[in-house]
Amino acid sequence: MSVARYAVIGNPVGHSKSPQIHAAFAAACAQNLQYEALLAPVDGFVACVKAFRAAGGRGANVTLPFKSEAFALAHSRTARAEAAGAVNTLCFDGDSIIGDNTDGVGLVRDIVHNAGFGLKGQRILLLGAGGAARGALLPLLEQQPRQIIIANRTVANADTLSQEFLARAGSGMLASCGFADLAQRYPGPFDLIINASSSSLHGSLPPLDASVLAADTLAYDMMYGANPTVFLQWAAGHGARTRDGLGMLLEQAAESFFVWRGVHPATQAVYDSLRAGLK
Ligand code: NDP
Repeated sequence: MSVARYAVIGNPVGHSKSPQIHAAFAAACAQNLQYEALLAPVDGFVACVKAFRAAGGRGANVTLPFKSEAFALAHSRTARAEAAGAVNTLCFDGDSIIGDNTDGVGLVRDIVHNAGFGLKGQRILLLGAGGAARGALLPLLEQQPRQIIIANRTVANADTLSQEFLARAGSGMLASCGFADLAQRYPGPFDLIINASSSSLHGSLPPLDASVLAADTLAYDMMYGANPTVFLQWAAGHGARTRDGLGMLLEQAAESFFVWRGVHPATQAVYDSLRAGLK
């Protein structure tokens, strides 16, 4: 039987850990597949997908800067991709391209299952209003938290995002603000703070008052690396629990693998190996 081909398409893509992750999943689940990284020119995403499909590709992950183009390219989309406004997983089904988004469910699975932190009834602060925050909102709301406050550097972006999701949230469950008026408008500690802004990429810390933290707050940064991000260092310095986004990366990959192959790979061993490789 011919090997099933999958790929991650991005620009840049050389740094992607997806080939390593999916090779490990395939070996653990005894799936005969090949997974490669494809560098598409910035104006050549659609041509790259077309060529990969013509060469027998069965599906692809999509990373920056092509998630919006993948959304537009898909002939049909899952509800979570529609809510995210972006596609990170493509399935080639005959002539049809199905678009999905596994980032948000990956985040929730890492928090709920891997960190053992149930979200029902919790008070959540979501920092950032870009693609990652948008992708997280529907899966977070589905967990029935008590409240989600979106705080962002550009207040208008936070307001737009919360307006878009208001109809899916219970009364008073979702609101937005800037960093400066957060402590005054929504005082008191949060159970969970998710940094979905790219502040950590720039080595900067959103201007937060320490009153958002309590000793049992979980501070989660979607970014990951060899060392804790400045946000996680700040939260740990105030006694909070911390977790970075490596587990989210693994869980979104596992969900893509499930979408393609119908098998849920275990993630812990691959997580441990990637974590060791970061050091
Ligand atoms: P976007 O570019 O779509 O959005 C960036 C967001 O960060 C905006 O809300 C922006 O605010 C805010 N921001 C940018 N710089 C700063 C700063 N210096 N201080 C405070 N806020 C800032 O990025 P994404 O949403 O795609 O990605 C966000 C983060 O999530 C990245 O760090 C990325 O690596 C991570 N991520 C991790 C994943 C994983 O699997 N672990 C998956 C996806 C993303 P404004 O509106 O004012 O511009």
